[in-house]
Amino acid sequence: MDKTIGIFGGGQLGRMMAQAALPLNIQCTFFEAKQDCPAAQLGQVIESEADQAIETFINSADVFSLEFENTPLADVDQLTKKKQIHPPRQALAIAQNRLLEKALFDQLEIPVAAYRAVDSLQSLEQAVRDLGLPIVLKTATGGYDGKGQFVLRSEDQISQAWAELGPAKSLIAESFVRFSREVSIIAVRGQDGNVKTWPLAENHHHHGILSHSIVPAPNSAELQGVAQDYITRLLNHLDYVGVLTLELFVTEQGLYANEMAPRVHNSGHWSIEGAVCSQFENHIRAVAGLPLGSTELVRPTVMVNVIGRYPETAAVLALSGAHLHLYNKTERAGRKIGHITLMPTDSAQLTYLCQQLAKILPEPLALTADMQIEL
Ligand code: AMP
Repeated sequence: MDKTIGIFGGGQLGRMMAQAALPLNIQCTFFEAKQDCPAAQLGQVIESEADQAIETFINSADVFSLEFENTPLADVDQLTKKKQIHPPRQALAIAQNRLLEKALFDQLEIPVAAYRAVDSLQSLEQAVRDLGLPIVLKTATGGYDGKGQFVLRSEDQISQAWAELGPAKSLIAESFVRFSREVSIIAVRGQDGNVKTWPLAENHHHHGILSHSIVPAPNSAELQGVAQDYITRLLNHLDYVGVLTLELFVTEQGLYANEMAPRVHNSGHWSIEGAVCSQFENHIRAVAGLPLGSTELVRPTVMVNVIGRYPETAAVLALSGAHLHLYNKTERAGRKIGHITLMPTDSAQLTYLCQQLAKILPEPLALTADMQIEL
């Protein structure tokens, strides 16, 4: 093996990073609570609760990265005394706190919804007066997939919202953005400062969880340039190495940044088959100090998440052009356990594939047969 990369987290993102690393003769190790995790089939798992676990992990690899954005900063600090981690600690610290994240977007002149920091009932009342209703109240740290959020539509909900989220102590109140759709841009920056960006993904959610992504996002030629500019500002400012994701709202006034993820992202899974070099391979290349691969599109792609229950493998593979990725996770309602990449040849085939998938997937999806894709 040429190099070993230690990864904080051993979920499906770590699993797919290691799958991309293997052909490059790069091995991965994982720092995860339990042996029984999606990445376990690909490399050594160091149990994070065990005695001396962090030392064992630090000794297990040459260079480090992460797939879990709430990786404890204390662990990263211990690591950086001896070894390097990509992306940098600063990017992680900012992405872990929505207030720091919004402040950075402001600093780099990346548009965001108007917001206020909230740490008391009085400051919440003031935020409602300043921003008007509706507002989205979120915990500054720890939320994901829409958890830790409250949409306040009338003043008589203020006390309920405070009762639910107030115990988190640090909150952010954001103006409600009237967006037409949600998109994400994913980019990678190498150790030499070279930046490459994948086409925008249009993301559709179901009960707060990503249901499917369409790439390239339809009618996104102009948005692509703007989004690329925003994410490049972030990458260069943070002296970032690796893959970064920026989630954006499309509005009549243009793009508004929602949040960034300092890692590979669910809305980039399409790139395994749909791009010349996937987000996973380019992340590994960047962390290992290798030249980056092309992020060009091979074919327009729709990525559909498998949530809760597995479909029959043979039924999915019988669909022309479909690829199935299973994460070796047990079935549980609302859990991401796999994904399917569709690579239709035209819109009619996409409609057909979506109709078939809707029958095959055990859980209903926000998947409509009249989905638009530019081929
Ligand atoms: P987040 O955890 O910030 O990604 O938010 C989860 C989802 O809530 C987003 O994907 C949006 O659909 C919605 N959302 C978050 N913030 C806002 C906002 N300020 N205005 C409108 N919708 C929002």
